[in-house]
Amino acid sequence: MCGIVAVSGVDHAAELTFLGLYALQHRGQEAGGICAISSDGPRLHKAAGMISEAFDDEVLSRLPGRTALGHVRYSTAGGAGLENAQPLLVRYHLGDLALVHNGNITNAQLLRQEMVREGALFQSTIDSEVIVHLIARSREETVEAQLADALGRLEGAFSVLITVGDTLYVARDPWGFRPLVLGTKDGGHVVASETCALDLLKAKYIRDVEPGEVLRIRGGEVTSLNHLTPVRRHAACVFELIYFARPDSRLGGVSVDRARRAFGRQLAREHPADADCVFSVPDSSNSAALGFSEASGIPLELGLIRNHYVGRTFIHPTQAERDFRVRIKYNPVREVIEGKRVVVVDDSLVRGTTSRGLVALIREAGAKEVHFRISSPPVRFPCYYGIDMPTREELIGAQLTIEDIRNHLQVDSLGYLSLEGMHEALREHGPFCDACFSGEYVAPLTDIASGFPANTHC
Ligand code: AMP
Repeated sequence: MCGIVAVSGVDHAAELTFLGLYALQHRGQEAGGICAISSDGPRLHKAAGMISEAFDDEVLSRLPGRTALGHVRYSTAGGAGLENAQPLLVRYHLGDLALVHNGNITNAQLLRQEMVREGALFQSTIDSEVIVHLIARSREETVEAQLADALGRLEGAFSVLITVGDTLYVARDPWGFRPLVLGTKDGGHVVASETCALDLLKAKYIRDVEPGEVLRIRGGEVTSLNHLTPVRRHAACVFELIYFARPDSRLGGVSVDRARRAFGRQLAREHPADADCVFSVPDSSNSAALGFSEASGIPLELGLIRNHYVGRTFIHPTQAERDFRVRIKYNPVREVIEGKRVVVVDDSLVRGTTSRGLVALIREAGAKEVHFRISSPPVRFPCYYGIDMPTREELIGAQLTIEDIRNHLQVDSLGYLSLEGMHEALREHGPFCDACFSGEYVAPLTDIASGFPANTHC
């Protein structure tokens, strides 16, 4: 998963982009990059680590201009080199082109193989580079026609921001998997993965970029270009609402906080518990735990404290490390837990390692009973549209029955939100992609069908 931001027609665009990426840091912590465009041409800076580590005043002062775009990266193992960080910047026959991409293109490997056979030289292993090559190799004459040609050949998930010279192009795949919002600031524009980035920049939200939409932004004007070919149905990723996005963001008109609370309330109705208190696994399930408490009347407590200076447990490769990371990251509050029957609300179970470690900690702190509640359905299928999920073999929900998972976690009861309940909680919105729960993949999985290994680079 990744986060993207672009600023067009505003002074100090790189600094604003930096702030936008700061607000989107939760979408990727592995590397960050900004390309700024001034009359002297584009300047690029990319570095490993968090945005605050990758940039300082000195670096930003070397990125002048009123147009900029940036990226925070969150990748799977093997793809972490800086050559895979974005923005990608190339010089092609119609100008300097910079690109940032969030999503996962499901026919990228096939397209890449075709182009490599024809002599294309790729510099990275990311699917995003395929877009650059498709644009540069298009036989169309104008940038816009080349863009339409290139984007029209892609399948799967892509929210992309592209500059050619200082013109910004914005596109979202026809399914609308990954979020993308448009705002205005000081007569110019800001485009970002989530509205929380607009908030920090004091940019005014205008609207979401529509699925299949291609926009040109130049000189304070937004022009809608030809839409990409419509698809059978839109499919915004529901996992953004469950886990990935920030609760202070609104995606597709849905408040992430409201959605999570609704999941929590529905979960309480589906899986009530006789307990003394309920608490979240902070921070991702805070809103869901609030909803659970609201609907059940069980008081909300702060039973687990998270150390904010530790990165996400998920990205650490070995099992032993992961167990240890749970302890570094969370500590139970004994005064809340000792002698109590507790409900623990978590947003999702992926491998089950975090929860197993957490339950052990909660028991050590003296819990009398532990009732585990998950504010999403069992994750049974990998995501090929940009959420970094392990293979089916590693997904606990794909391997074990609910009763076996309860045993594995060593909890007194276990309840998942049902698929129907999840959709019911969102009934005024959607439709959503729920492939990780249902296995119903709405966009073609051409690479997989062609025998390429699953690609989860974003
Ligand atoms: P585990 O079950 O140990 O694999 O960890 C599940 C926890 O990791 C969930 O409660 C989420 O908070 C978080 N999580 C879920 N999906 C992802 C993901 N794709 N990347 C990183 N963290 C995730």
